[in-house]
Amino acid sequence: MCGHCGCGETAASKSESHHDHGHDHEHGERRVIELERSILERNARLAERLRGMFWGKGVVAINMVSSPGSGKTALLEATLTGDGLRGLRPAVIVGDLATDNDAARIQKTGAPAVQVTTGDVCHLDAHMLLHTLKSQENPQGLDLGELDLVFIENVGNLVCPAAFDLGEDMRVVLTSVCEGEDKPLKYPTIFHDVALVVITKTDLSEAVGVDLGALRANIHEVAPGAKILEVSARTGAGMETWFAFLEAALAAKV
Ligand code: MG
Repeated sequence: MCGHCGCGETAASKSESHHDHGHDHEHGERRVIELERSILERNARLAERLRGMFWGKGVVAINMVSSPGSGKTALLEATLTGDGLRGLRPAVIVGDLATDNDAARIQKTGAPAVQVTTGDVCHLDAHMLLHTLKSQENPQGLDLGELDLVFIENVGNLVCPAAFDLGEDMRVVLTSVCEGEDKPLKYPTIFHDVALVVITKTDLSEAVGVDLGALRANIHEVAPGAKILEVSARTGAGMETWFAFLEAALAAKV
């Protein structure tokens, strides 16, 4: 359940709150805020645990967020099959509401991939991530001791993932040329403090008539410090700049 968008609310609780008025309504609202705070506090504690685990094993963790269909999985496929990671040991944790389609696509590259299916939940949280890692209860889980780089492909959503720390080293936002120029202005929160924005599907720029200059300006308006890369996973254009970014991230960690 998500305290931010209410996507986990049942139909009954929605209609109940709809008919709530006055005094009851205030109580209900306070209850929602308290529940939301406790969810985020619990997530923050577990994210700190994850951060410690990533640091302890020298693993760089990258939280990749975007709207559905921006090409997160395609970028990861191109990353894992390209020669830019030279000897590094990557893995992918991928979140979707349903299906293990994306994990299956990633596994075809030979990299370990774990699918998290979130049901009604529109983001990954730290608790879900902890359960993907190797432990006594989960001996088949990802072993951070044997990895250098973990890509976390978050649930496609430009809103809720922004609120949930996953203990990652950095967040990368993808936005495809097909989404137009003003997504950063409409969904600014997820762009705040982002290390990198990858403009994807640039091979389609002409077909969709996007104004790349305007898109870049809008990204910098909400994320002045963000680096921006333009990439086409399909043609390979810009992939070398993405690999250089990953190399620098790994160098900074050790
Ligand atoms: Mg995907």
